[in-house]
Amino acid sequence: MSDTLHGAATRHALPSYLDHDRLGPWGIFLQQVDRVTPYLGSLARWVETLKRPKRILIVDVPIQLDDGTIAHFEGYRVQHNTSRGPGKGGVRYHQDVTLSEVMALAAWMSIKNAAVNVPFGGAKGGIRVDPRRLSLPELERLTRRYTSEIGLIIGPTKDIPAPDVNTNERVMAWMMDTYSMNVGETATGVVTGKPISLGGSLGRHEATGRGVFTVGAEAARRIGLHVAGARVAVQGFGNVGGIAARLFAEAGARVVAVQDHAGCVYREAGLDIPALLRHAKATGSVADFAGAEPLARDAFWDTPCDILIPAALEQQITEANAGRIQARLIIEGANGPTTPAADDILTERGVLVVPDVIANAGGVTVSYFEWVQDFSSFFWSEQEINERLVAIMKGALDAVWQVADDKGVTLRTATFIVACERILRARDLRGLYP
Ligand code: NAD
Repeated sequence: MSDTLHGAATRHALPSYLDHDRLGPWGIFLQQVDRVTPYLGSLARWVETLKRPKRILIVDVPIQLDDGTIAHFEGYRVQHNTSRGPGKGGVRYHQDVTLSEVMALAAWMSIKNAAVNVPFGGAKGGIRVDPRRLSLPELERLTRRYTSEIGLIIGPTKDIPAPDVNTNERVMAWMMDTYSMNVGETATGVVTGKPISLGGSLGRHEATGRGVFTVGAEAARRIGLHVAGARVAVQGFGNVGGIAARLFAEAGARVVAVQDHAGCVYREAGLDIPALLRHAKATGSVADFAGAEPLARDAFWDTPCDILIPAALEQQITEANAGRIQARLIIEGANGPTTPAADDILTERGVLVVPDVIANAGGVTVSYFEWVQDFSSFFWSEQEINERLVAIMKGALDAVWQVADDKGVTLRTATFIVACERILRARDLRGLYP
């Protein structure tokens, strides 16, 4: 073998399927890893492990539509890292899902699970589909075929899916049933975020939003910002954004602006969040809510507010709008909402960003509780679950806050330091097979 073949450049060359996308979500994850590498000491020798997913499965998902025609959809399941435990991460149904996106989401799950120290690796799945265009029976057929296709690599001790954008408890019930039929036993632990009557956990539905609220309120307290009376703007009004908005409103904050995929509404005195939730449930969007003024989509970023919660999709806060954001505190409910360039602008402007990998970890934390409850077939009270959730979230924030202070880095870099150390130490202890 020649030197060239084993030279550093070749040794670390990216696999071809990773090479195409340096600006998308996966490219952003790579930049985040590069930023943390100087802090990893001797563990940095393992850092390449994080730059390539352990396993990628791309599947064709054919289904018969209600009109008798056959449609094909592209599905993915990516296991980014399993050094600390089985893969864990949601399944997204969205027309813009790409492999790059699913890889990044899987990688952020590795970081998140390590940051809150739950014994999981990182994984994620998705189907490139607009589920709003499918009937319920079509959605069920899609889910069942996708589950069968990825059934090769998922399982209660292998990789455990959960809800994400446009998937919910009903989709998890179909996934659990399909997997169970295929393996010949009822395997409740194969997914989390299930209905309570199928082994789901109390508190899981609200857990991500509750986690966003918990770390958000704690971060606000630490920078002397009172939640009661604070003005909050929320992008995304689904499971994460809707519940976070409700909890902030219940704590006395004024939720002044909400944006979703179809509209944007504003009310200086604070929106009536329970009424807005009812409106969004009935109509599918916050648009045309009677108790508010409509706001142009782009004007959302100029909204006068103290706290901003991006809770929709990736790459929403960019160089183009980071300079316009009025908030003192950003709590990332969504995964990957801020680009690295925007991160730098916000840091320079003194805006505190609580990163996704801590802020939205409440969901996977209660998913962990659900998984443990399923294995032991012993279920906890909601109070017990919420208390444990709050303790884990506050403990994780406290730990990364200290690292950020000690090393003079952002909360994001501090979280990556804590998480990467845990993942790579596990890798180091396990050693390389064979
Ligand atoms: P959801 O499907 O319940 O809601 C998504 C919301 O985003 C909807 O209100 C939708 O209208 C809005 N939206 C979609 N496209 C938009 C656009 N272009 N502009 C503005 N709004 C848009 O999804 P969710 O579960 O609330 O997930 C939201 C984010 O939180 C995602 O990034 C997801 O990965 C992340 N997340 C979710 C969980 C969870 O437990 N559900 C956990 C951790 C992280």
